[in-house]
Amino acid sequence: MAKSRIREGLRARRVVHRPHVMEKDPEHNREENLGLALDDLREALGEEWATDAPSILCGYARDQSFKPASYPHIVAMPASVEEVQAIYRVANERLLDVMPFGTGLTTAGIALPSYGGILCDLRRMDNIVEIDGENMFATIEPGVNYLMLQAAAQRVGCRVLNPSTSATAGVLSNHLFCNINTMASKYGFGMDNIIDVEVALPTGELLKTGASSYGAAKGAVPGPGPDLSCLFRYAFGTYGIVTKMTVRLYPEAPCHQQIFPAYEEDKLEVMAEALYSVAQDNLSLELAHLMNSFYGIFMGDTNAEASKITELMPRHNLVTIFGGGSQEEADLKAEVTQRMLQDKFPMFDYLPKEAIEDMTAEYEYVDMEKWVKFFNVTVRVQRVRGSFVIGALIDKLENMVGIEKKMRAACTNQVGTNDDALPPDDASTYLQPYHMGRSAYMEYDVYTNQADKDDLIRIVLGYGRATATAMSHGMIIAAGGGALVKGLFPMMDLAMAAAQPNMVQLMDAFTKMKMALDPNNISNRRWEYDTGCMKKICF
Ligand SMILES: Cc1cc2nc3c(=O)[nH]c(=O)nc-3n(C[C@H](O)[C@H](O)[C@H](O)COP(=O)(O)OP(=O)(O)OC[C@H]3O[C@@H](n4cnc5c(N)ncnc54)[C@H](O)[C@@H]3O)c2cc1C
Repeated sequence: MAKSRIREGLRARRVVHRPHVMEKDPEHNREENLGLALDDLREALGEEWATDAPSILCGYARDQSFKPASYPHIVAMPASVEEVQAIYRVANERLLDVMPFGTGLTTAGIALPSYGGILCDLRRMDNIVEIDGENMFATIEPGVNYLMLQAAAQRVGCRVLNPSTSATAGVLSNHLFCNINTMASKYGFGMDNIIDVEVALPTGELLKTGASSYGAAKGAVPGPGPDLSCLFRYAFGTYGIVTKMTVRLYPEAPCHQQIFPAYEEDKLEVMAEALYSVAQDNLSLELAHLMNSFYGIFMGDTNAEASKITELMPRHNLVTIFGGGSQEEADLKAEVTQRMLQDKFPMFDYLPKEAIEDMTAEYEYVDMEKWVKFFNVTVRVQRVRGSFVIGALIDKLENMVGIEKKMRAACTNQVGTNDDALPPDDASTYLQPYHMGRSAYMEYDVYTNQADKDDLIRIVLGYGRATATAMSHGMIIAAGGGALVKGLFPMMDLAMAAAQPNMVQLMDAFTKMKMALDPNNISNRRWEYDTGCMKKICF
């Protein structure tokens, strides 16, 4: 028989069959239950809103991370909280896992269904249920993204705490995930600004939290008594699906001014001190430190452009934006801050606005418009070398500097270096004060070409060593890694305890709560209740 060129072509491109069984001795997601569950879901949601078509499933099997493909068996798209409850009902009856899906932008494979089951894509639930400019809050469903909410908020004189991610990122899922935004020094992270939530629990029951759950006004201080809204932060869908959330909005300043303090020397300690000083003055609206390579990834459309922009920019930059009711007010805040910085940090340069405009004119890809839009309305961030691994860490500002140095040394030891504008060991560090400098957030991003297996392994090992170094110095991983790494391997809990003693109590409480809320372990199942371990690496 003649050889099939098509089949050979497919083999060469490593097109693989979608596996149906994704774990050893499965008790969940058993083949004989899948068809029955699909019928039930179609009845509950409507024929077209539940599918097992491979062409749809493959769209959910990967994300921007380097995690290998992991397919759901079924994708379901509910349009209401009742339909979310129906999905849990079917999942409990047929013992199928449920993976909530917001927008799949975590860059860490977090919303990939490790063992298959039902992927619950929430993007049809995209109503802004209520928006109140006077009391500055909005109640939203999971499908509302930053662009939608920012546009609606601006119409009532407010703004959203938007992070530096894609405009299509879900507001609700991002707030559950922390929401690191450049206004955190003034207003905190998004997770601090959750007023209440409505949650479909894995049992199918509905839980409402916050003051509004007992009839008080949404803006009221919760209590007396405990407020359960925080329980779902960092839970990654393991405790159920958040179907509504009320978040705080803030006044939109009609006028803005910006200064561009920059520092060429590679001394992060100076930048940390400057951040603290500006944070304590509490005049700036947005405040963050950016390394030159961030400008590259924000503004460059290609790797070559990103490298060029990285070389053009000073090594360290303070993003310092001021808002005011009038231009005079915004200008004055900027002027006072610049004077304070000039006094305390005479080594800084101040890039005049014209310098950036000149750069824009000379190099067409350094697009000032893009930059301004990036911070006012979120736009997609360009990525360098294909993919990146984010290290998100929280600690005291003054501790960050020493730990960052140790992380860099560990990474260089592991991956080596070269003379490129973006060498493999040169992580992009991003520092920003939180709550006026009470503590701080640090991002430690390394770039990798995920199509190149050697590069990927090399960079991931470098990142791993850097992160282990940070943890061994007591730094807390932001975005609540505990719920994700629980049971990763038999010694995981001991390893976590060695790195961070407070993790023992935290994981104990998390485990008990998970088992109480989800008796069948169906909602983002990662580890088994009987062994305490994952059946495979779900990370
Ligand atoms: C280039 C880039 C830059 C970024 N920069 C930032 C930044 O500056 N600041 C920042 O905060 N983030 C940033 N992110 C991260 C990203 O925006 C967030 O990871 C994302 O918004 C999380 O939401 P998601 O919809 O992607 O969640 P998903 O990936 O869909 O889900 C994440 C987890 O939450 C669970 N989940 C989703 N929806 C629900 C729900 N309704 N109820 C319960 N559980 C749910 C999922 O099961 C999963 O476990 C960046 C991402 C990229 C790609």
